[in-house]
Amino acid sequence: MQPKPNIFLKFIPLIGGILIISTGLLALNFYSKSKNNGYSSASIKIKASPINLENFCQQYQTIGKNLQLWNQESLSEDEVLVKTQAYPNLPFSLDAVALPNIKDKARKAKVPVLMYHDILPTKEVFFDVTPEELEADFELMKSKGVTPISLDQLIIHLRTGSPLPEKPVLLTFDDGYGGHYEYVYPLLKRYKYPAAFSVYTKNMGINTGRSHITWEQLKIMVEDPLVTIAGHSKTHPPDLTKLSDEELNQEVVESKQILEKKLGKSIRYFTYPTGKNDERVRKIVEEAGYIAALAMDDADEKFAGESENLLAIERFGQSRLEELVDRASGGEVVNCWEQN
Ligand SMILES: [Zn+2]
Repeated sequence: MQPKPNIFLKFIPLIGGILIISTGLLALNFYSKSKNNGYSSASIKIKASPINLENFCQQYQTIGKNLQLWNQESLSEDEVLVKTQAYPNLPFSLDAVALPNIKDKARKAKVPVLMYHDILPTKEVFFDVTPEELEADFELMKSKGVTPISLDQLIIHLRTGSPLPEKPVLLTFDDGYGGHYEYVYPLLKRYKYPAAFSVYTKNMGINTGRSHITWEQLKIMVEDPLVTIAGHSKTHPPDLTKLSDEELNQEVVESKQILEKKLGKSIRYFTYPTGKNDERVRKIVEEAGYIAALAMDDADEKFAGESENLLAIERFGQSRLEELVDRASGGEVVNCWEQN
């Protein structure tokens, strides 16, 4: 008896079948992959399938006040995509005014943008703040029902007139000091407060008598949703309006490219060193692709909604916090019914 060839013969149809099926699967796999490349962007859009505010209100009754951005790209478009805390998987669109304008409705709110500089244990100049003082500020905000918002949230509000939480403030920390990582960042996490940090690239990681934040520390912070990094030039010239076009390009455009390359994130906000800006500077900032820019004017401090436009958002010195906590307001109570 020679059973082996018989068994082999018996399996030939089976092997053939497996071959046919796997060839078919391979072809199908290849087809779907090539097709996917064709409409992968379309499928992302389908996934988001945002509805407009009116439809959202009809279906879900309430818009809520703590809106979050749905995707970064839409922040500069005519329709900003947002989500609410109650329905985090349902994006809806808000009509925005053209960049860099501020919507009239947003001008009724009073959002102070607070400006801090270095945080260090021993003060050297009057605007230095100790970690204990910063914690006291956070405690004051907490006890007064203040809600720190992110820079993205402020821009959504200014562009669309969307509602903000009670007593909104935006916390900003300028100049990229080591104390921002050592003292501010842990406090932000403890209180779950968002904040924006404006860094200039020249002094990263070095000690100039004060320690400056390192790229490694900044990379950790930028991954945290609580943190927004804004460009603040390359060398921190005291007055951008005095620079040549070429120098201005280096400070505004190249600093953006350096930050984006090092951090792997798009940098959408700029902060003018010492707040100084004029039409030429603002134009270069806009052309560089920034959506908005933070300014400051010690002599004439204003709420964000009182700014001329998004390219010069006004701020207050951090010492004004105590008086501002009682004045901050999200403006009109806007809800679905009033929108319709
Ligand atoms: Zn600065």
